[in-house]
Amino acid sequence: MKIIDVKTYTAVYPVEDPFANAMRTTPERAFGIVEVVTDAGITGWGEGAIVPARRALESQVIGRNPFDCELIWEGLHRQGTDPAAISAVDIALWDIMGKALKQPIHQLLGGAFRTRVQAYATGLFRRERADRTAALVEEARGYVDAGFKVMKMKVGFGPAYDITNVAAVRRAIGDDILLAVDANCGYDRGSAIAVGQEIGKQKLLWFEEPISADDVEGYIEIRRALNMRIAGAEQQRGRWAFRRMIQERALDIIQPDVCVCGGFTEFRKIAAMASANHVRVIPHMFGTSIRLAATLHVLAALPDSPRALEPFPTLLEYDMSENALRTELAREPIRHHDGIVTVPQAPGLGIEIDRDVLRRYC
Ligand SMILES: [Mg+2]
Repeated sequence: MKIIDVKTYTAVYPVEDPFANAMRTTPERAFGIVEVVTDAGITGWGEGAIVPARRALESQVIGRNPFDCELIWEGLHRQGTDPAAISAVDIALWDIMGKALKQPIHQLLGGAFRTRVQAYATGLFRRERADRTAALVEEARGYVDAGFKVMKMKVGFGPAYDITNVAAVRRAIGDDILLAVDANCGYDRGSAIAVGQEIGKQKLLWFEEPISADDVEGYIEIRRALNMRIAGAEQQRGRWAFRRMIQERALDIIQPDVCVCGGFTEFRKIAAMASANHVRVIPHMFGTSIRLAATLHVLAALPDSPRALEPFPTLLEYDMSENALRTELAREPIRHHDGIVTVPQAPGLGIEIDRDVLRRYC
């Protein structure tokens, strides 16, 4: 089997009700999508934060056997392609391999430790509202009503906002629901520790990206200062970017994004490094149906860490923000039921792309 063409698409979804994290307001969502075409009539789909350059695709991908995923990864990387763009190609190659072998990707990754994954609702962004606290409380209660047992809210907007709103959300959802917070790198070390000590009183599952993503020493300091799990590394690209964070125990939980870190081929290496160093992996997911399906396959194939009778849940980040490219791009959308999502079982990614939806947003 030979790759005869790679098509690239930049899909943009305009957000109707813009929302903010500690870094930016999101007026639109943009995704890089690739379609890898083979001479066997099999087409693979992949997603990355960006798409690779034409020249790189022509010299490193077209004409190759799609099963040469390691060779293609190294070839693209050697040529200077960003791992976030390599991700898109790599995911498409695994989609092709699965379709050719008539197996879902998690089977190719070594099998499914689980076929149903507990999802956590990612939402609770900051929005322009007259009463932000009331809006957050209503949204959080909605997730509980929808069956979620875990959710994550945005912080990093200053001590007043964070302390008031985390306490309000905790009061609204009760003590049995797990609650994580995400500052999207919005604090420096001092503020992260000061705010963390206050919001930590609300029994938090983890504190995500309190500070700048590459401040390894800062993360080590925060981990020592705060009595809660510190998570991060969703933006890191390539195994080398994760190496120090993992080896220096800068994080309790690493959150590689399969569409940013370098696809399945790179995710496996990062997960192995984390496992060897007793660092937990809970992937980041904020994208289209392709990223949602790809993330479910890596979650299916992740062993419990640590092994236990009642292990810490292997969680799917379930993005609750409006995005038709997540809810409509797959002909049969992947949905949660009572906070549980079933891993696709059809060959490859296990989804069929609706080309009309793709065209509409390109
Ligand atoms: Mg995050």
